Amino acid sequence: MARKIENRHIEKSKVKFPYFSILGVLLVVIFFTVLWRPLNLDRTVYIPLNPQVETTVNNTSVPVNIGEGQVELVDGNSNSTVIESSDEPEDEIVKDDLDKIIDEKDNTVQYTIVRGDTLHDILLRYNVNRNDVYELTSQFKQLANLRIGQQLMWTTDDDHNLQNLNWTISSNNIRMYEKSGNKFVENSETVEGILQEVVIKGEIKSNFIADARKSGLTSTEIGIITRALQWRLDFKRLQIGDKFSVILSREMHGDRLSNSQLLAVRFKNGSKDYYAVLADDGKYYDINGDSLSQSFFRYPLAKKARVSSQFNPRRLHPVTGKIAPHNGVDFAVSRGTPVLSVGNGEVVIAKYSGSAGNYIAIRHGRQYMTTYMHLDKILVKPGQQVKQGEQIGLSGNTGRSTGPHLHFELHINNKPVNPLTANLPIDEGLTGKSKNAFVAKVKSIKPRLEFNN
Ligand SMILES: [Zn+2]
Repeated sequence: MARKIENRHIEKSKVKFPYFSILGVLLVVIFFTVLWRPLNLDRTVYIPLNPQVETTVNNTSVPVNIGEGQVELVDGNSNSTVIESSDEPEDEIVKDDLDKIIDEKDNTVQYTIVRGDTLHDILLRYNVNRNDVYELTSQFKQLANLRIGQQLMWTTDDDHNLQNLNWTISSNNIRMYEKSGNKFVENSETVEGILQEVVIKGEIKSNFIADARKSGLTSTEIGIITRALQWRLDFKRLQIGDKFSVILSREMHGDRLSNSQLLAVRFKNGSKDYYAVLADDGKYYDINGDSLSQSFFRYPLAKKARVSSQFNPRRLHPVTGKIAPHNGVDFAVSRGTPVLSVGNGEVVIAKYSGSAGNYIAIRHGRQYMTTYMHLDKILVKPGQQVKQGEQIGLSGNTGRSTGPHLHFELHINNKPVNPLTANLPIDEGLTGKSKNAFVAKVKSIKPRLEFNN
């Protein structure tokens, strides 16, 4: 009897011991989690305006919504495990006609002046040729008088040489500067632009681009429309008989159209209606005032991951010594870690592809693309629609990779950018006064978007 009791006693104290150590570990974990969070949440991300050049622009800092997929990141530079890999998929992402239109638009920048801006700084930030910037600003001293809210629009050639610049002082006072030889000329004949509001309606008879052009919309305008609705409407899914109506504010210089602003657009796709209406903040919303933009997760992982190799457009190849850009970020994660899509989108590539190994490319709207490489398993198929946070694969060590890791890229307008710092759309709707103003605007604009039959 006595022995039995003693045994039970020993067993009890044996059982108790691990509970305390688990509790201790938990407390330590909680302690570090609490320490970590403020650092992560308060982080301000700077927008690299020219993704190829990693400049830090202090006066355009915006806090970025990191989303649910937030993970704790530890900079890998100080860590000894370096994973070197090559991430060149064999499969190129095929471009369509809409991409070409958006690409064409790429050399033209529209910019709204904010506090502290100087023309010199703005243009250099956008990588405009330094000599052109110097020439323009020294030739026309009045360009020092930029005011907050005024619009600038400029075009460069492929080598970043400035071709022309429009300075909209007010709706009917626009100054145009055009390059002529090495100098710029102020075009005085067409200084006064006249704003014309036009309503254009059309029906899909073959495909949107062809029918939009036929109805009188320019490529630039088609680009603006597709970007405004990119998260709501898949333009490839428009069908014969679908209808669109567009309200534009066009800036005319005689017969020449110099600038267009999309005020509102409506698409009737089958029985569904899609609207985009411009609000006073310069962004587009649906008729309920809900945002038309879409948020992204900053990272394609659900759990903490170490960055083993940063985005680096000027990385030197460890073997050849030549510049071999690292177009993404490497996360050191063990084989089999779930990989999540950072946003809603369509899978465009899902296959084994050269040194990238098992490779997934997802297209989000018109301007964004993400890629995921060296996967152990691919869980999606090309053409499949995926939701933000959906598991698309398991990380691995396939292709040319020296250790298990996930290589993740973000492309904006077909250019790779740093996914950890890039300016990503923030999903927020209108509230309060601005919502009321918007509702009133929708009331007056909606009847003008009606179709006749
Ligand atoms: Zn990589």
